[in-house]
Amino acid sequence: MTTPIPPAAPGAGIPAEADWDRAPSLLDGAESLELTPAVCDLKYWLNAVPHGTLRGRVLGHDPNVAPLEVVTRPGPLNSALTQELAYRSVAEEKATRAIGYLTALAPDNDTMEFYATQLIDEARHAMVFRNHLLHLGIASHELFATVDRLSADDRDRILVPLEDLGLRVLRDERDFIGGVLVLTVLVEGVLAPAAELSERKWRIFDPAAADIERGAGIDEIRHLTVGSAIVRDHLLRHPQDKGRLLELMQEGYALWEKLPTTEQLMRREELFQQGVEEHRDLLGDYEIWPGRRLADTGAQERLETGHAWAERMQRTRLAYMGLQEAM
Ligand code: FE
Ligand code: FE
Repeated sequence: MTTPIPPAAPGAGIPAEADWDRAPSLLDGAESLELTPAVCDLKYWLNAVPHGTLRGRVLGHDPNVAPLEVVTRPGPLNSALTQELAYRSVAEEKATRAIGYLTALAPDNDTMEFYATQLIDEARHAMVFRNHLLHLGIASHELFATVDRLSADDRDRILVPLEDLGLRVLRDERDFIGGVLVLTVLVEGVLAPAAELSERKWRIFDPAAADIERGAGIDEIRHLTVGSAIVRDHLLRHPQDKGRLLELMQEGYALWEKLPTTEQLMRREELFQQGVEEHRDLLGDYEIWPGRRLADTGAQERLETGHAWAERMQRTRLAYMGLQEAM
């Protein structure tokens, strides 16, 4: 594992990996950086996040950045984005609550401080995803009810089964390292590439939503790399736990297979595609990834690319942790 962007000492400026302009993309950062709980403690976070990533962007983007009108009025783009944000906001809320257990069970001060900061990060993600709905035609007095309505199906079919697994491990079995593994690999590792795709595909239609994703992605680099470092370090010190953790991974992957995530992502990509077809002129030559114009992509292609990114990232992370057999 190489470390191309060494984090700066606290107080010596904003570390590059948390700096809005210098941070790598989520996928690049999560694959190439190595961050540990000893580095990413509370001092690090207080310097890097409020003064770095979030400076001037408490709601996730510069106040002058706003969605295009075609996203704010009823239509396929509005439906795709409001569904996505409502769902993501509920996912982040569930993560926040579950991380309370990780903070409680953390075996030392470094991991306790790290999870306390991740808890705030996830609570912020829930807030900014939800808040952005106010810019997409949803009235503030209907905000929570709308999030509920838009996310209910996917929440019950996808998020609740994942949450049940997390709560069994953390709340019932009080298994700190198992909980870190479930969160890092099964929840964040699988969802992170979808977040990167989201940032890239909304960049033109809704630059504010893309910036919200960018900020959450910068946090996510830290969550994925530090979570992986915790598992790696644990396995180096307790190799006898490897079999048990591999079994937990198998159980988690078997659960994922049963969740209707492809159906959910496809539904949103198809709505997005209708928007692309109606408003292709707005996209110009914007490239969703190098060499590929967003205007030329289709729902299936974007979905498959997200899957491929997820698989590559899982491989790299699991190998780093010493759990490559899980794939
Ligand atoms: Fe998050
Ligand atoms: Fe996260």
